[in-house]
Amino acid sequence: MRIEQLGEGTPEVAVVAAIHGDEPCGVHAVERLLADDPETERPVKFIVANELALEREVRYVDEDLNRAFPGDPDADTHEGRLATDLAREVRDCTTLALHSTQSYGEPFAVTDEVGAVARTVCPHLPISELVDTQNDTDGRLIEYPHTVEVECGYQGSTEAAENAVELTRGFLRATGVLPAGESLPDEGADPVEVFRLDSRISKSPATEYEVFAENFERVEGGEAFAAADDRRLVADEPFYPILLSAYGYEDIFGYRSDRIGVLEG
Ligand SMILES: [Zn+2]
Repeated sequence: MRIEQLGEGTPEVAVVAAIHGDEPCGVHAVERLLADDPETERPVKFIVANELALEREVRYVDEDLNRAFPGDPDADTHEGRLATDLAREVRDCTTLALHSTQSYGEPFAVTDEVGAVARTVCPHLPISELVDTQNDTDGRLIEYPHTVEVECGYQGSTEAAENAVELTRGFLRATGVLPAGESLPDEGADPVEVFRLDSRISKSPATEYEVFAENFERVEGGEAFAAADDRRLVADEPFYPILLSAYGYEDIFGYRSDRIGVLEG
């Protein structure tokens, strides 16, 4: 785990990259911010979490770090031990965790509830959607208070790396690390749509998968939204798909959600 700091004192703000070793966008953002070395109004720490997985270009070495919290210093797995160290580093911090996906190109945020931190931070981020996981976060970093996860775009893409930089800058302005001025004219003006995670869309064994629906766009009852070989999946009730993709996950297509409102900037 690599830890860097901008500003003097004990940081109460943290940015975490490379919880997954095959998602380089966050590391790009950390490197950019450290290279920029901006004037800060309060200190911030940058953490590159799973350096070993990053070096090997794999999601994880022994187990998924984002299912391993709170971890154990004596765990048998690399990620089990790392989870304890990372949890200790972010314990007293308002934290942004940078991720990327195989299912959606636009950045969006994920929190375990729509609480004070989500309301304060999300309107300052260049996002249109916030996903509330409703505490269905077993072993994930966002089960810690004051943590916002962002999905920066497609894994390994240049856009995700650029989005990660803008998301990090927005987060640092929202938390008072960077001055609030100098912002984009429309920053904070666009409402953020809030979606509440509902259920997993399971995937039966097949050789070919397809999806017909768009993430965050309503699927109507009776509409076919995916297929496993020639078996089509039809919605019983309307829902909004999240992290929906043909091959992103082994056992699920993604998640159903409800649209529950908007956060005003
Ligand atoms: Zn990730």
